Amino acid sequence: MHRDRYPSERSREGSIRVLLVEDDDDIAGRLIAGLVPAGFTVDRADNGADGYAMGADEAYDAAILDLGLPEMQGLDVLKRWRAEQRKVPVLILTARGTWSEKVDGLNAGADDYITKPFHVPEVAARLKALIRRSSGLASAMLTHRGIVFDTGANRVSLNGENVDLTARELKMLNYFMHRIGRVVSQSELTEHLYALEDSRESNTIEVYVSRLRRKFGSDLITTIRGLGYRME
Ligand code: CA
Repeated sequence: MHRDRYPSERSREGSIRVLLVEDDDDIAGRLIAGLVPAGFTVDRADNGADGYAMGADEAYDAAILDLGLPEMQGLDVLKRWRAEQRKVPVLILTARGTWSEKVDGLNAGADDYITKPFHVPEVAARLKALIRRSSGLASAMLTHRGIVFDTGANRVSLNGENVDLTARELKMLNYFMHRIGRVVSQSELTEHLYALEDSRESNTIEVYVSRLRRKFGSDLITTIRGLGYRME
């Protein structure tokens, strides 16, 4: 698979992960040259089939999708993602004067479009607006310290690598990621994890916390003696 990564110059926490599906090297190069210094990490696919697979494999904050692509048309890529409930915000690139492309793209589930030729700062601003909007939805993309948690698909990645979590671990991570920097008591976690069950052994909370630490780094969750835990 053709897969090029252009990491952001910023820290991982601050970077926005974008999938760019564009076959034109000049256009792709211009976007990468403008987006990377602006805090985006860009993965590029140069054909529709690879772009589809990359978007299906990993949780991106947003995707830039050209419509005229070899191997699989952009519109088909988008339709397949949406049919599979992939909610990544998509910005489509269209040629000037092709209003029907825009309509088709929006109907297929695109969130916004931009017309070629474009200015890269405008693309960056639109991507950020898309991500802001989508993170306000119920099935949000939670991001923190390299962790990307797609709560709609229940998929989690760390620094771009998928992480397998059990249902309880997902639930606990979700709870913590909504309360970053706040102390969460053991009883609160117990309530949340075992809402409908009888066996409420508080020592199992410690087990799940240590599993999350093992998977995401020991310093992610701090124990606050006598009070509970805090995601840093
Ligand atoms: Ca093209």
